[in-house]
Amino acid sequence: MKAILQYGPSDLRYEKIPYPECEPGGMILKVMAVGLCGSDIRNLTSDPLPGKYPHIWGHEHAGIIKEIGPEYKGDLKPGDRVISWAVRPCGQCAECRAGNSNYCLNWNEYTFRQGGFAQYMPIPQVIVERDGVRKLPDDMPFDAFGVIEPMFSVCGCHERMNINFRDTVLICGAGPLGCIHSRVAKIRGAKRVIMTEISSARLEGVEKFGVDVKIDASKTDQIEEVLKLTGGRGADKVICANPSTLSQQQALKMAKPGGIISFFGGVPKGVMTEIDSNIIHYKGLTIMGQTGGDALAQDTAEDLIFSGRFDYRDIITATMPLCRISEAIAKCKAGEEIKISLHPWEDENGNEIKE
Ligand SMILES: [Zn+2]
Ligand SMILES: [Zn+2]
Repeated sequence: MKAILQYGPSDLRYEKIPYPECEPGGMILKVMAVGLCGSDIRNLTSDPLPGKYPHIWGHEHAGIIKEIGPEYKGDLKPGDRVISWAVRPCGQCAECRAGNSNYCLNWNEYTFRQGGFAQYMPIPQVIVERDGVRKLPDDMPFDAFGVIEPMFSVCGCHERMNINFRDTVLICGAGPLGCIHSRVAKIRGAKRVIMTEISSARLEGVEKFGVDVKIDASKTDQIEEVLKLTGGRGADKVICANPSTLSQQQALKMAKPGGIISFFGGVPKGVMTEIDSNIIHYKGLTIMGQTGGDALAQDTAEDLIFSGRFDYRDIITATMPLCRISEAIAKCKAGEEIKISLHPWEDENGNEIKE
């Protein structure tokens, strides 16, 4: 079978590798679509696993069950169309029991096993046991999971920030996550969504995601603009959906007194954000972080898309053969596409590869 192997920063090779082994209670997934996530782009273009290459990434995979281990006891069978969560909480440790299952102490880290940038991938027994393989509705394309998966951290974030009908929500960053944030905020009833972004290209057409006012931060002073739009007070809730320390600094000035800020996007490792803590002190701000979501957020994301309440289709702006992943990365980085879904069973011209 073919897969994309990372050998180092931006060193990606499309190679033939052995068909994976199925764990006794695990499964083998024929990967039909795998989302190219922002975290994948960061990992594939940097040096995340020094000394541990080659590695196969990809965690937003959906496909057809090819094989099931002999010890599996559930209802799924080969041929079923499924999504497969890359991580699932255990539901039993202290953090899970306390309702913080995104900090599960037995969280099954996916960094060290084969991911979905391949024609087949092994689904570990632990994922199967934790209800991490679910049937995809018949009318739902495999590409949908490329939106469900990133959406679960958004759902977790909004739940913790309690975004509601009273809120003016400011979203910093118009990448795929920023767009998902905006649409989810509107589903939760947010009064108004303001979006700021430094790339004019990315801001084009964001209205369809529920954005009411957009600010091109490359042309105007975004702090001034936000204050003007909110009667000098600032936004109720501010979400930094970008990897920018400047954005984190400025968020303090764009939140209203008593406002809540989420540092949703991670910043490059080792980079420090300098913060005027007096702003937090005098405005009584709450700053929270977000990484992933809990089991409830996973279920919520799935339900929002499966039920059709969240239209995922305009988030995935292109599909491409897996073998052209480097080109896909370049397109996302340039802001030409919001999100790309990769197809392992297409050759470089987009023709089907026979099994
Ligand atoms: Zn992802
Ligand atoms: Zn747990």
